[in-house]
Amino acid sequence: MDFTGKTILVTGAGKGIGRAIAKLAAARGASVVAMTRTAADLESLEAEIGCRSIVVDLSDAAATRAAAREAMPVDYLVNNAGTTALDSVLDVSAETFDLLYAVNTRAPLILAQEYAKDRIAKGLGGAIVNVSSISSFIGFADHAAYCASKGALDAMTRVMANELGRKGIRVNAVNPTVTLTPMAVKAWSDPDKAGGMLSRIPLGRFAEPDEVAEVILYLLGDGAAMVNGVTMPVDGGFMSD
Ligand code: NDP
Repeated sequence: MDFTGKTILVTGAGKGIGRAIAKLAAARGASVVAMTRTAADLESLEAEIGCRSIVVDLSDAAATRAAAREAMPVDYLVNNAGTTALDSVLDVSAETFDLLYAVNTRAPLILAQEYAKDRIAKGLGGAIVNVSSISSFIGFADHAAYCASKGALDAMTRVMANELGRKGIRVNAVNPTVTLTPMAVKAWSDPDKAGGMLSRIPLGRFAEPDEVAEVILYLLGDGAAMVNGVTMPVDGGFMSD
């Protein structure tokens, strides 16, 4: 996969999976537009790969739309930024629910709108990958708002694939299992919980950020030219157990 001459917008590029995507895309020749909340992360990424940086809080709809417009034009979009909270159905607050929905679901919609309008206006096709989670398929205890936000992201991916596919823009999701990033450390630091999860993964380990990034770049590239509307587990076989 060679992305020379192509520009890829990656949200949440400061840390974890997003940073891995940005670095792998740059190594494959792409120009990266890196969008995230913490400016220091983007400064260090810029020093590593020479990306263009946009700082924004994706929980703010108006700021997200302005940042998306600033980022255009790009050839591909990866909606990776996400946030989590550990609350049960009984305890989750409306504020937490709204925040996770805003970052994990609404921001990808706004970015996809601005990306797709630009591509369609220019008569160009394209590809979007939304970074979802196996949490969209499974009712993990204490992930009420997170599971809901990712389930909605999968549903929206299918609507986008249907509508935008007709304009030559493919839209897919990847659904990783626990991937060893700062977010995973926050959610899976309890050894009992981690052990229970690992025992359900036939390959016997959690994912590395690069292993998720590889699948995302595959879905963006021409090798996946006929793939549209999938929600692809990157889970070591968790979903087949
Ligand atoms: P990290 O927490 O390591 O990184 C998330 C990135 O998104 C950070 O750069 C963060 O910036 C950014 N971000 C979060 N909230 C906002 C916001 N409001 N505005 C702008 N940027 C924001 O997470 P991961 O790399 O682990 O997760 C990446 C994606 O993968 C997420 O969508 C997550 O749901 C998904 N995923 C992760 C799994 C895992 O086990 N790690 C498993 C399955 C899916 P900042 O640091 O400044 O907050």
